[in-house]
Amino acid sequence: MVKDEKIASLADSIVSRFRNAGVEVERSEIVKRLKLLIHEFKVPEGEAVRTITNWLMKEHEVSREQLVEKESALVKIGDINKAGEWVSLKARVVQLWDATSPNVSQVGLIGDETGIVKFVIWVKAGKGEVEEGKSYLFKNVVTDSFGGRLQVNVNRFSEIVEIDEEIQLPPKEIEVVGALVAIQQNSALIQRCSECRRVMTKGICPVHGKVKGYDDLRIKGVLDDGASIYEIILNQDNIKELTGIGLDEAVKIAHETLDRNAVLSELKKALLGRYLKVDGTKGERFLLVKHVEFIREADAKELLEELQEELQ
Ligand SMILES: [Zn+2]
Repeated sequence: MVKDEKIASLADSIVSRFRNAGVEVERSEIVKRLKLLIHEFKVPEGEAVRTITNWLMKEHEVSREQLVEKESALVKIGDINKAGEWVSLKARVVQLWDATSPNVSQVGLIGDETGIVKFVIWVKAGKGEVEEGKSYLFKNVVTDSFGGRLQVNVNRFSEIVEIDEEIQLPPKEIEVVGALVAIQQNSALIQRCSECRRVMTKGICPVHGKVKGYDDLRIKGVLDDGASIYEIILNQDNIKELTGIGLDEAVKIAHETLDRNAVLSELKKALLGRYLKVDGTKGERFLLVKHVEFIREADAKELLEELQEELQ
């Protein structure tokens, strides 16, 4: 059952859309019709808003263009919070699904750095097809609510323009269990530029050249769970927790052996080939580790089987 507050907010958005186009409409009449459509006739919210908007456009002789032009502000997906709004989005096509209705041309997920949302391109919108992994400006699309979830609909007043922009997706929290099969270059005791924190090679920052650096400890490693590989980054705290070697201990090893690479050898001995259970945030390329622990090989195999079953 759609609550009265919901009806009120839908009514407000219709009123403000027409007000933006310079037309005053009667709110009480809109509320009455929304209740009738949504409660009595079980029409989805977005559809109800469209029906009433179309009726008001006829009543007040307002054209679609007048309304659309005023309303389609560029928004982020994370800001979408109600049905029946005209918006524009810059987003990347994350996934395409099989369209289950003959009225639907394409359906799937689009995302930007603030969130991911379902999208539907209706056949009668008459648009070209979008491709997975590509980014587009979705202009004048309508937010809708279906089964309690928000989505965006592409209709014949919408426009889809491919854009040459890297749209980032929101970071994903994941858990991975696997063997650390490799440690990449620029791991262990490294030096960072004191101005930009970039990793320096032989005292040189790629941006600032020869500057003062400071020591840091990190590992870029490759975790293999048998099905995929993950590039993980372990920070000072992660490494200390696993091996007992923190930054202070690492600096001491380097001083005693007069060899910064000695730290890398120590860490390789302690970590390579071991099974790890890792929680972290998956970015575009690297899995940034929040928590990590050793796990026995037998336990790792058992956990992996459970994870596989969950996926099926
Ligand atoms: Zn720098």
